[in-house]
Amino acid sequence: MHALRAIPGACSLADLDTAGTPGFVGSKSDALRLLQARGKHLHTLQEKLYANAVSGNGRSVLLVLQGMDAAGKGGIIRHVLGMVNPEGIDHAPFGVPSSEERLHHFLWRVHKALPRLGHIGVFDRSHYEDVLVARVRKLVPEAVWQGRYHEINEFERQLAGQGMVIVKVAMFISLQEQKQRLLQRLRDPHKNWKYSPRDVDDRLQWPHYRDAYQALLDRTSTEVAPWYVIPCDHKWYSRIAVAELLIAALETMDLTWPPAQYDLQKEITRLQRS
Ligand code: ADP
Repeated sequence: MHALRAIPGACSLADLDTAGTPGFVGSKSDALRLLQARGKHLHTLQEKLYANAVSGNGRSVLLVLQGMDAAGKGGIIRHVLGMVNPEGIDHAPFGVPSSEERLHHFLWRVHKALPRLGHIGVFDRSHYEDVLVARVRKLVPEAVWQGRYHEINEFERQLAGQGMVIVKVAMFISLQEQKQRLLQRLRDPHKNWKYSPRDVDDRLQWPHYRDAYQALLDRTSTEVAPWYVIPCDHKWYSRIAVAELLIAALETMDLTWPPAQYDLQKEITRLQRS
């Protein structure tokens, strides 16, 4: 999955092949089969993460999902995180800030949404909206959003210093693929609820969003919190790619099953006699 990592200055969104499948050779059905098998491993790793937290050695993982509308964030949550025990997931969606949130620093609501120890936190959009939509729609002066890149890097450095493993995923589809997916949402009454007129407004602003995403990759892909750029025209690819990234993140933690904090033999005897 190293092929997906955004190296600042060396990753050009203008050249991205959104239909590509970097690091994966195989068909859709191969990917679906692999996802099932890897899901079991992911499930076990998350359980170890949780077990360690219960035993006092608490750490967490934060998966940041950012991407164009209809890029498939929801599908990642259902199909990748859906393979993990739901008790182990802390899902946090970030929509338009509430009137209360607007009265605070932009990271205020982010602090409150951080995952609990032993959990995989999923940011469904994130603090990066504050250098994306805020920049493109000119919601704050330029000096403000410019300062946020540094603030975000510092914030994430602190989180990593506290033992959190951060995986940031930027999801892209072609404009043609996006049009098809949005049209489907309009034509299928069961999907109308997923559509928002803002989606077309944002689509019309894509060149500006692309610049904002490019700046984000160049300025906030750090050693402790790297960005991974995921081509998402093929949903089966993006799902296996994110599953592998999460597995790799959990594996860096060298998790083992915590030993019993009681006398095992004595408890077996006590239970048998009871
Ligand atoms: P989604 O499109 O992810 O399914 P919503 O329909 O709730 O979810 O849309 C979330 C909207 O909130 C997006 O248009 C996004 O740009 C906007 N948003 C998120 N964070 C901010 C922010 N900090 N400032 C302004 N708008 C934001």
